[in-house]
Amino acid sequence: MNFCRLCGAQAGFVKSHIIPEAFFRQLRDEEQKLLLVADAAGYFPKNAPIGVYDGEILCKLCEAKFLAIDTYGIDALLTRFDWYFQPIVNDNGPVAYESASVDTLKLLEFLVAIIWRGSISRQPFFRTLALGPHEESAKAGLFATSPVIPKVFDAVLSRWEDTKAPSLPKAALLNPHRERWGDINAYRLYLGKVVAYVKVDQRPFLAPFATFSLRTGLPCRIISRRLAPSNDIIAMRKTIGAAERNRQQLLAKRRTT
Ligand SMILES: [Zn+2]
Repeated sequence: MNFCRLCGAQAGFVKSHIIPEAFFRQLRDEEQKLLLVADAAGYFPKNAPIGVYDGEILCKLCEAKFLAIDTYGIDALLTRFDWYFQPIVNDNGPVAYESASVDTLKLLEFLVAIIWRGSISRQPFFRTLALGPHEESAKAGLFATSPVIPKVFDAVLSRWEDTKAPSLPKAALLNPHRERWGDINAYRLYLGKVVAYVKVDQRPFLAPFATFSLRTGLPCRIISRRLAPSNDIIAMRKTIGAAERNRQQLLAKRRTT
């Protein structure tokens, strides 16, 4: 029996997108269709025109409680990014983006809300997200009368450049990765062109990341990254290769049965 993970209701479930659909749509609109990829194992090679959702975690009333916070994240990191953030440029293009007006703690709430929903979800796409003892405190922090995100959470943001380069696979959204920065536990979330590195650890970020973290306050800085030399692109290429092999094997199987 499923029950709503916020109120306990046993009926009235709706589709929870976890990572808002808008971030999938951005990629889909640029490429006409979306190739959804996960990791080098190639578990999720499929078209997912409306992204990945879980229809078994939240009732309609509780899903609606995420609307304001999701809307803020979509607005700041996607729809009105250029309004909130100004590029810091050198000869090679933007090296960072800076905002004096974005609400950094609201952005952190947005990221924690994604991670919390991913953590309670049983969708394979989110299987790497597991907050363990921090699941309850994240929920309590998000839904307190005045939301207070526990100190274990903080985040650094980056944004990919040159996603228009013809040799790069663009229609891809990787699943969240778990990683360690030195001793610090973190998750990497892919939100369209923005990548969020979300710390889930009692220890603070170390330099130089500490100077970029959302808890540092304003100005909010987003690191600009070139897609081509990044590890992400290697992971994407591997995944797309694996996805293609999976597809060929499936086709071959169908032909023989
Ligand atoms: Zn509910």
